[in-house]
Amino acid sequence: MTHAPMTADTRIALRGDLLDFTADPGFAAPAQAQGVRFRRDHWLLVEGGRIAGVQAGEPGPDWERIDHRGHLLMPGFIDTHVHSPQLDVIASYGTELLEWLDTYTFPAERRHADPVVAAAGAERFLDALLAHGTTAAVVFPTVHKASAEALFAGAERRGMRVIAGKVLMDRHAPDGLRDDVRQAERDCVDLIQRWHGHGRLAYALTVRFAPTSTSAQMRMAAALLAAHPGTYMQTHVAENRDEVRWVAELFPEARSYLDVYHRHGLLNERSVLAHGVWLDDTDRALLRETGAQVAHSPSSNLFLGSGLFDWPGTEGQGAHVSVASDVGGGTSLSMIRTLADAYKVQALRGVRLTAWKGLYGATRGAARALHLDHEIGSLDAGRHADVAVWDWSSTPLMQHRVDLAHDLHEKLFAWMTLGDERLLQAAYVAGVPRYRRAPGPG
Ligand SMILES: [Zn+2]
Repeated sequence: MTHAPMTADTRIALRGDLLDFTADPGFAAPAQAQGVRFRRDHWLLVEGGRIAGVQAGEPGPDWERIDHRGHLLMPGFIDTHVHSPQLDVIASYGTELLEWLDTYTFPAERRHADPVVAAAGAERFLDALLAHGTTAAVVFPTVHKASAEALFAGAERRGMRVIAGKVLMDRHAPDGLRDDVRQAERDCVDLIQRWHGHGRLAYALTVRFAPTSTSAQMRMAAALLAAHPGTYMQTHVAENRDEVRWVAELFPEARSYLDVYHRHGLLNERSVLAHGVWLDDTDRALLRETGAQVAHSPSSNLFLGSGLFDWPGTEGQGAHVSVASDVGGGTSLSMIRTLADAYKVQALRGVRLTAWKGLYGATRGAARALHLDHEIGSLDAGRHADVAVWDWSSTPLMQHRVDLAHDLHEKLFAWMTLGDERLLQAAYVAGVPRYRRAPGPG
């Protein structure tokens, strides 16, 4: 696709039904939820790639008008935990976490040592994100520097907000997937200098998980995290019970799995911890104290049989929670399908997740947890115009159900439960159309 260059004075106006959030709806019932902002048939004004405002009336002739009437316009989704090379192993049969890593994931990631494979994988992944309405993501590539390079370069070409870093693994991983502390440090410093703060990119020190990094490597990562302002830290924590037991054997001095990261200086307000299924109250208090967030990955937790995350309990103790696909443990890049799974995980815990809370967690809530709500996650003026344009239905049956809805929440809840990426009509990144669905037959 080619695009007209977006300049500081390029003005476009998108017409449609605008949905975003001004505050966290929490776990209130649909009718009591706060912070929901729905503006039917309004114009979203975009100037120089940023949102300039919203108005009901048609803008003047100095705006290029794009008519998405009858479609739902939302901020692009933010996926706070996803693995770019794991599109190669998504939907792999029959294992839990540790066996899944050994059987499927590590062999697939090893192939990304080849820069040609890494580059093709990064392109495929980023295009797929956009085709699922996801315009920002916190991403694990592989241990290979070239895979991080390819991901950053591809994201920069697309103007996307991507947070990523070379994976750190200096033990308990097969040949071809291990680094060492000195080489890893050199690679991280190079990548930080080249990409961190460049365009819309940020670097994340990326400890795969405690079992695959030595204490020395985690201390090195913590030192870089402290030395380079604005860098993030991403890892996994307390996903699966066998994994939790293994970490307890490896780090007998730690109070808990989460405490391993705390002891190594890796927890701060820019730490993104995937899963957090098997945390306790002391851990959740530590999340609040440090400001670290949980990237809740419901599809992955169901698929790998990992467990049921306590979302309200975690937030109830003051910690931030965002929503993530965790592909390839998760089975879809679609944040809509991810939210449908999030509802089911909470249902099994006796909790009701509204469409409001779910969609907030994949937009403004995620932006807030990442300290990026000044840039993404809402349709407020001044934000980058990362916008997804959705159909209300993708099948006759879905249309039937949506048409029967009595109110907006019922309609959005059916949309979230029955929908997927087939609903996506277009995705804009900083005001530039980066995805448009090909017209169907007839
Ligand atoms: Zn993961």
